[in-house]
Amino acid sequence: MTDSPLIRKHRAMNLQLLLPYAPEAPALREIADSLGVMSPVFVPVAGAPLPDCILCELCVRVCSAFGHNALSTIGRGDHERVGPPFGETAAMACVGCGSCHEICPTGCITLEDTGTTRSIWGRTFSRRLTTAG
Ligand code: SF4
Ligand code: SF4
Repeated sequence: MTDSPLIRKHRAMNLQLLLPYAPEAPALREIADSLGVMSPVFVPVAGAPLPDCILCELCVRVCSAFGHNALSTIGRGDHERVGPPFGETAAMACVGCGSCHEICPTGCITLEDTGTTRSIWGRTFSRRLTTAG
């Protein structure tokens, strides 16, 4: 059973715990609407290191799955965040694939693409086109 009244009640409670981190994120708003959650019970988190991050760790996992390990969780409690490990200001192991940006459910990982360069996590990569043969 994945859509019983009890399951929907638990989903709504879990959503209430996530909403303070990203109250305006479209993905969360969509789920909130589907569950009839009109207003957050808890106050929004102020001053988060990465605004709208719900600490789902999908970015860390996808980066690890591709073998780059450029991201990790850092800190504990109110100070927990995702980003480059060891206090690095830029993700030195990042290859600029953009997978973390694509998978982030709240769209809080900034990726800037100019067509010839791509910037993400404090790094800027040159985008070179290759031709077959
Ligand atoms: S863009 Fe960088 S940090 Fe993000 S998944 Fe790719 S290698 Fe990892
Ligand atoms: S995928 Fe997005 S919301 Fe989830 S931990 Fe990473 S940055 Fe935060």
